[in-house]
Amino acid sequence: MESALVVLSGGQDSTTCLYWALTRFGAGSVETVTFDYGQRHQIELDCATRVAARAGVAQTVLPIDTFAALEGNALTDGNIAVRDGADAQTGLPNTFVPGRNLIFLTFAAALAYPRGIRHLVTGVAQTDYSGYPDCRQTTLQALEHTLRLGMAYELTIHAPLMFQSKADTVRLARDLGALPALADTHTCYNGIQPPCGECPACVLRARGFAEAGIPDPVVERFRERPS
Ligand code: ZN
Repeated sequence: MESALVVLSGGQDSTTCLYWALTRFGAGSVETVTFDYGQRHQIELDCATRVAARAGVAQTVLPIDTFAALEGNALTDGNIAVRDGADAQTGLPNTFVPGRNLIFLTFAAALAYPRGIRHLVTGVAQTDYSGYPDCRQTTLQALEHTLRLGMAYELTIHAPLMFQSKADTVRLARDLGALPALADTHTCYNGIQPPCGECPACVLRARGFAEAGIPDPVVERFRERPS
C-alpha cells in the first residue's frame, strides 16, 4: 500500500495538506515530520503536535539547529524584526530562510526512505505568497528529480496547494473536513495567541478566510475562550 509523509509545520497550509493526504492515502498510511529549526516561536511546534494528535497520525520531530547559526533572516534571528514588503536587494521578504524547503524535503526524504514511504507532501504554494523561490513548482520538480537520482528511490513530491489561492485553500480545508483542525494552527509572525491580526502572515490568512466567506476557526476559538 502506498504511504505518505507530510511535512507539518503547525500552520494552516501544512495542516490542510495533512487532511488532503489522509483522504488520498488513508488514515493508516500517513505520518508527519516536523522540523525544530530554531524558529522564533515554540508555539509553532506545539501547534504541529496538537494537529498530529487530533488527526491521529504519528509525528516525528527532527532537530535542525543549523539555521539558527545562520544570520540575516527574521524567522530564526531574534535580533531581526519581521518587515512587510520585499528587501531592496533580494526582492524577497526578510522572513526568507535560504534553502529551508530544500533542506526540509531532503531530510523528509531521508526519513521516508527506510520506512518505504514514497510520497512526500508539502504545503508550499507559489500563488498569493511571498515569492520564496523554494516554494515554486519548478524548484520542487528539480528537487524531486535530484532526490530520485541521489537516493535511487522513486519518490514523489506532492504540493496540493501549489496553484491555489488562499481562499481556495480555505475552501479545500472545508471540503476535506480540516476546519476544526485549523483552530489549532498557528500563522502569526509575532508568535502570539490570539494572533495579532496585523502582521503580513495574519493579514494574508484573514484575507483568505474573508474571500472564502468562512470564519477562521482560530479567531473563533479565541472569541469563545479568550486567553
Ligand atoms: Zn500576526
